[in-house]
Amino acid sequence: MKNVSTSLEITLKQVQKTFSDGTLALKPLDLHIEKGEILVLLGPSGCGKTTTLRLIAGLEFCDQGGEIHFGERDVTQIAIEQRRVGMVFQSYALFPNMNVSDNIAYGLRVRGESKVNKDKKVQEMLDMFDLQAYAHRSIDQLSGGQRQRVALARAIITEPEVLLLDEPLSALDALLKKRLRTDINALLKRLGITAVYVTHDQEEAMAMGDRIAILDHGEIVQIGTAEDIYLSPKSEFVANFIGQMNHFDGQLQGRNLSFGTHFLPLSAALYEPYSEGERLRCMSRPEDIRLMTVEDASVKGAVSQSVFLGDRTRVLVEVEGQNNLIHVDCFERKRYAKGDRVGLIIPSTRLVLLPTQQRESAIC
Ligand code: ATP
Repeated sequence: MKNVSTSLEITLKQVQKTFSDGTLALKPLDLHIEKGEILVLLGPSGCGKTTTLRLIAGLEFCDQGGEIHFGERDVTQIAIEQRRVGMVFQSYALFPNMNVSDNIAYGLRVRGESKVNKDKKVQEMLDMFDLQAYAHRSIDQLSGGQRQRVALARAIITEPEVLLLDEPLSALDALLKKRLRTDINALLKRLGITAVYVTHDQEEAMAMGDRIAILDHGEIVQIGTAEDIYLSPKSEFVANFIGQMNHFDGQLQGRNLSFGTHFLPLSAALYEPYSEGERLRCMSRPEDIRLMTVEDASVKGAVSQSVFLGDRTRVLVEVEGQNNLIHVDCFERKRYAKGDRVGLIIPSTRLVLLPTQQRESAIC
């Protein structure tokens, strides 16, 4: 199977979903997904990821006034059978009474495809997913990873305009997950399929998505590439959802950030948006902070804990005047013991500053 030329862009305009019991699962949402793009929906349980996916699939319909378009086609009122979507679920949803080939061929059989065409396409899928050896096995004789490959083959064989994946890897072990997410990403890119991928696993989201949309309480709170979101989170919620972040309270004093008894000089880009004396929430990633000898440092603290993690050592530091422990990732093979006095270099170029009010509204 070559590039899936039928792949389409997806547009959601003011799409809102209220369930019959009055639950507002999705606030009015505008979203554009490019042709061939993999968009990941990421967020905590109950934030509306699956609802968004089901609305795109046509398994649910949005409230009055919302619109969903596949390319030029308005599919808002169109049932799932006419939407040409492929779906892959965490639970595989395979037919246990059929063998692997018959499961993969299912969509083509329903569509009434000729036997010759059907057999040819099934062979292609078996090759593509490395399932030749299992063609005649029943589903219950397969491992989790093999089942998920059958589910993907079954979804892709019909050449859907849009592929929707709902936590497809969450039932698999960590190693297999890593391998399959790389395989799936490469495959979708090779076929040029527009895909929406739901997960609550941040690493999977970063590995899989061209862009990631972070949802919270039924709305997208930030959308962008993994780099955008990781390096420039627009709220504490987003900062905490992708990677780990240190938080501390500070105040703008001239061109410096003061926190506790410490001062950090800021670049113009960081201090200019704020006014003198403004209270700020400051964030810095553990891998951006460095430890140094205590004598020369302006920020000082004591090691509370040190954990060897193989590629780095995570050191937790009690910084004078701060309530939170600061997490620091050290990549040089140096040992730290509880109570060691250390200095911290917190590069202001990698700091993220937010006004304190935004923190409160982002958290509520
Ligand atoms: P998870 O990661 O746990 O699967 P999610 O982000 O996919 O969560 P959704 O399944 O989209 O979340 O649910 C969003 C909200 O809508 C939740 O509050 C959920 O309880 C509610 N909800 C989902 N389906 C229904 C339904 N059929 N009737 C009423 N409320 C529903």
